[in-house]
Amino acid sequence: MNITDLTVHELQEKLKNKELTVTEITNAYCDRIKEKEPEVAAFITTYLDEAKEKAKKVEEKIQKKEMTGEFAGIPIGIKDNICMKGTKTTCASKMLENFISPYDATVIENLKEKNIISLGKLNMDEFAMGGSTEYSYFKKTKNPWNLNKVPGGSSGGSAAAVASNMVPWALGTDTGGSIRQPASFCGVVGLKPTYGLVSRYGLVAFASSLDQIGPITKDVQDAAMLLNIIADHDEKDTTSEDIEKKDYTKCLKNDVKGLKIGVPKEFYAEGINKEVKDTLYKSIERYKELGAEVEEFSLDVAKYSLATYYIIACAEASSNLGRFDGIRYTYRTKEYKNLKELYKKSRSEGFGSEVKRRIILGTYVLSSGYYDAYYKKAQQVRTLVMNEFNKAFEKYDVILTPTSPTVSFDIGSKSNNPLEMYLADICTVSVNIAGLPGISIPCGVDSKGMPIGMQLIGNRFKEETILNAAYTFEQDFKFREKYQPKFIK
Ligand code: GLN
Repeated sequence: MNITDLTVHELQEKLKNKELTVTEITNAYCDRIKEKEPEVAAFITTYLDEAKEKAKKVEEKIQKKEMTGEFAGIPIGIKDNICMKGTKTTCASKMLENFISPYDATVIENLKEKNIISLGKLNMDEFAMGGSTEYSYFKKTKNPWNLNKVPGGSSGGSAAAVASNMVPWALGTDTGGSIRQPASFCGVVGLKPTYGLVSRYGLVAFASSLDQIGPITKDVQDAAMLLNIIADHDEKDTTSEDIEKKDYTKCLKNDVKGLKIGVPKEFYAEGINKEVKDTLYKSIERYKELGAEVEEFSLDVAKYSLATYYIIACAEASSNLGRFDGIRYTYRTKEYKNLKELYKKSRSEGFGSEVKRRIILGTYVLSSGYYDAYYKKAQQVRTLVMNEFNKAFEKYDVILTPTSPTVSFDIGSKSNNPLEMYLADICTVSVNIAGLPGISIPCGVDSKGMPIGMQLIGNRFKEETILNAAYTFEQDFKFREKYQPKFIK
């Protein structure tokens, strides 16, 4: 048995049956990271020695029966825009290269309560802006299925670490697709929860009305378990909804009979790669055979989503990133003559070019002469997108689309063409605009063996429905048994 091949629920099973100990598990992952990290480059920081120490303590306590808990000693990786007390949180930016967080994000508190052990902080596009993890200040993460290709982004480090078995699961964040798209590029599962389900306290803000933290895992059951841990009302986040706590594993019924699936034809139009489309059509047929009722429909405003997203996301980013000024906890330029020059030089030197592009764009759409034409208009379209989805959910339980118009692309092939990079978000952004939950699961590979992702979108706070739909497909299709990155062997 290869410990690092296992899912979290499989690890739990072995811990319970005393086939494995917490120390054995932690050591196996630490060894795996030492072996594979030089090639995959998924981590910005690792804490392997500390993790081993913690594992030893957890194991002693378990033996002395001072600690119980189904997650005690399970390792995890964290995207590097989530604050963890006493450790670096860089957002993959020179601006925060040496920033040590003085507090824990609420999701980190949730993990610590369960005695889950973090192995390190994972690479991402700078401030989560990007779709390939190439915009990290530190390194380019590779796709474990083909080391010449990108892992997707911005949570590319999280997806690549899970796909290469360096962590059993990870936390990512999703503002316009950054959990789902890397999950789809790396052949793993990624869940973006409903806006307001998971606390954003301690997540470094990119676009506050769109950001959500969520799980990236090997399978759907693990995603449901991690969601159980992090979905929690939090007074420290005013957008956190106070809804009844649910057990998301209870909804995994392996049955989609009578489930109403809507297939929006705009998501299968021009620009979507043929192999991706064909694979999705096959998956749709399989859902029908499994008893779901599938119907094509039109989600008319889909064509405006991308423009709306980039206006709103950049506007919010330009405001949120104002705090990185060279005065407080950030990078500060070495030489300056006055305060203005200190700000200017610190920000010019501390931010990468994609981040600067978005700050400029965002400031522009918020400026007095253009506010009505761009920002206000985008907010109005946002309402239309929400209304369209509301209408669709009167008829359907789940909306099924590709996660991304293509499979993973070559490193370097889009990084100098921002528009092309933005176009790759076409299938995911409307979900954030409407605040809905969406999950990406692998549904096949293309002729070159690269994974293809299917996105299932649900109504607000209906995570159960998409999790069960995803689980039922996964149990039938058995992606993990059929396909593995060659690199894993
Ligand atoms: N790729 C999108 C962007 O660049 C999404 C990013 C995200 O979800 N954090 O904005």
